[in-house]
Amino acid sequence: MSQALSVPVDGMHCASCAMTIQKTLTKLNGVVDCQVNFGNEKAKITFDPDQTNLKDLNKAIEPFGYSLNLNGIDRLHKLEELNKQRNKLIFVLPITLMVFIIMIWEIAAQTFEGFPSFFIPMEIFQVILLIISTIILFWIGLDFLKEVVAFAKYKVANMYTLVGIGTLTAYLYSALIVLLPSLKTQLNLPEMVYFDVVIVVIGFIYFGKYLEARSKLRTGEAIEKLLNLQSKTALVEIDGKELKVLIENVKVGDLIIVKPGSKIPVDGIILEGKSSIDESMITGESMPIDKTINDKVIGGTINKYGAFKFLASKVGSETLLARIIQMVDEAQGSKAPIQGLADKISAIFVPIVLIISIITLLVWIIIGSQFLPFSQALSIALLCFVGVLVIACPCALGLATPTAIIVGTGKGAENGILIKNAESLEKLHKVNIIVTDKTGTITKGEPEVSDVSILNTFLNEREALKVLATLEKNSEHPIAKAILKKANLTEFYKVSDFEVIEGKGVKAIINDEEYFAGNFKLLEDLKIDFNTLEIDKYTNQGKTPVILANKNNSLAIVTVADALKDNSKSTIQKLHKLGIKIVMLTGDNKKTADYIAKEAGIDEVIAEVLPNEKANKIKELQSKNYVVAMIGDGINDAPALAQADIGIAMGSGTDIAIESAEITLLNGDFSKVLQAIKLSKFTMSAIKQNLFWAFAYNIIGIPIAAGLLYPFFGILLNPIFAGLAMALSSVSVVSNSLRLKRIKI
Ligand code: ADP
Ligand code: MG
Repeated sequence: MSQALSVPVDGMHCASCAMTIQKTLTKLNGVVDCQVNFGNEKAKITFDPDQTNLKDLNKAIEPFGYSLNLNGIDRLHKLEELNKQRNKLIFVLPITLMVFIIMIWEIAAQTFEGFPSFFIPMEIFQVILLIISTIILFWIGLDFLKEVVAFAKYKVANMYTLVGIGTLTAYLYSALIVLLPSLKTQLNLPEMVYFDVVIVVIGFIYFGKYLEARSKLRTGEAIEKLLNLQSKTALVEIDGKELKVLIENVKVGDLIIVKPGSKIPVDGIILEGKSSIDESMITGESMPIDKTINDKVIGGTINKYGAFKFLASKVGSETLLARIIQMVDEAQGSKAPIQGLADKISAIFVPIVLIISIITLLVWIIIGSQFLPFSQALSIALLCFVGVLVIACPCALGLATPTAIIVGTGKGAENGILIKNAESLEKLHKVNIIVTDKTGTITKGEPEVSDVSILNTFLNEREALKVLATLEKNSEHPIAKAILKKANLTEFYKVSDFEVIEGKGVKAIINDEEYFAGNFKLLEDLKIDFNTLEIDKYTNQGKTPVILANKNNSLAIVTVADALKDNSKSTIQKLHKLGIKIVMLTGDNKKTADYIAKEAGIDEVIAEVLPNEKANKIKELQSKNYVVAMIGDGINDAPALAQADIGIAMGSGTDIAIESAEITLLNGDFSKVLQAIKLSKFTMSAIKQNLFWAFAYNIIGIPIAAGLLYPFFGILLNPIFAGLAMALSSVSVVSNSLRLKRIKI
């Protein structure tokens, strides 16, 4: 039996690191699968615990400078790391900026006549820079140098290797010039030194990495918020006394006391009292909800005014909140298909950049010296070599998709939209047809009896309702609830052999006689004649007739009507504007369904469908090249939800089948569908922007850094600007993803 674990990884710098770790671990004995995500810095490892363990896996990647964080306390740990980085920055940043300004000054002095030269003589200044750059390179830049060593030893490279090779080359060359002036004259080497490049590049990239890490931490804030919703203690009533108990020790069946203004600790059912409860933090529903005896409460929500006692029904990892947190965490770590290309490129990016940089160096020395004096060609060769190495940015490629996915799924969760994985979020924006259930999705799902009509003198109205209510007592269908409410009985007839006839109705034996309740299909099956006109009268008004019958006769018709939800119509209009077609799929009567569909503005109705045929209807639509989203309650419609490209479950209360659908809308609000689709569209466009910029940046940046523009326009990119660009590129990708937090969906 293999086991799947999601483990935080330390020491990753870019997408290449993720690929290296992934490749290394996948090759090991006992590892079935491994996915490393640079976005949330976690590795999802499926392995056989009999053959290997996390310690061994860790050993395999340690030589490359990575480690699995087996303690799992990753956020605190990252904050600590960030603090350390910030302390170093307080020292590095002012120096970097000073040197940067002096460099600009020097460039200006060389370019504009009359611009005064810098006030410290170059010879002294060079020595000062030598000292500073030594400190910066071997202290701040140590991580880069380590990767150069790892590269020499193991032939694995990442973004830090590139920066390391670039800055080390610039440093060594410059040190040679300053320390061995005789060699310089002997070899006719250029006068230029590049200490400033070393300092500024390392300073900027270090700063960029710091900003990137900080923003990345912010992308994960949604889960942090959810975690903070969990209460630490609960007030439990034990032998009539109130006792404060740690949340870990609360058991199913405990009687829990909730005071006004306090947090509900776990999921349960109210036994005593009533109150108004703010569930916005979980379901995204902004209005407080009135709750009383027998109503369900959700752990993590806030009790407003009243006081009540409830029976704990779900605790620990079983609570809705715990399941949501787990789902969001998994979704944030999952990979979107759109990331595939970026991943493939990341895997070969660093070696390719290394090769390009070496070609650049050689071309400038060999071919450049044909046209330019050797010392000038060498100086350009060095500048371009370093420039290519420090401008190449695999991190932007690696961050483009995952950061947007993390923010997108997090934002969804804050709005009561739970997304199972990145792939679902990606697919959702392509949906062009939404198939919806009727009851409870488009309509309120709380049908009420509107007419009772007696067809046969065999039973009077009171008796007919009592027989019906007795029949429906054991049914879960909303129709049954409506009938029971109307009958309003405390005592029923004796009933046995209750059976559900799928998609048609119910039957049972009452007082030794077999009774049926259901739709006209049921009557057809029973070969009982009925008055079609009578039924049409109701269906034409959008009501669902339920016919009570015994073996031989129809006895009564009771009609049930379910009002449209307030926002169904407006939501459907907005979905139409997005170019999405809406289809209603129901087991109900065609005429009833048509009436409601017309009222709601639905495009097409597929009615009188038996539950087991629903999935086939979805398949038919898919074969017409529609990308189908199916909305249902997630319990009865499971096969259809599974068949659809995107299954959207509408939940309410705590009985939410989160795991059954790609997307779960927590407060059973149809308008959330629109929000979910918008979220998907915004997230996908952020990803596409990110990927575009990340690719464009590298495709344009590398040739410019290589000096391609010099022969034509005389433009050379100083490596300090390459370093600056590199620092900005990944920061801007993460910032663009963070922008998703503020958009209105
Ligand atoms: P849907 O979820 O679209 O309403 P169902 O398969 O649940 O589809 O039900 C289809 C039809 O079967 C209902 O419209 C109703 O006419 C009949 N039916 C189902 N359950 C019952 C019930 N408990 N009592 C009476 N009629 C029922
Ligand atoms: Mg149903």
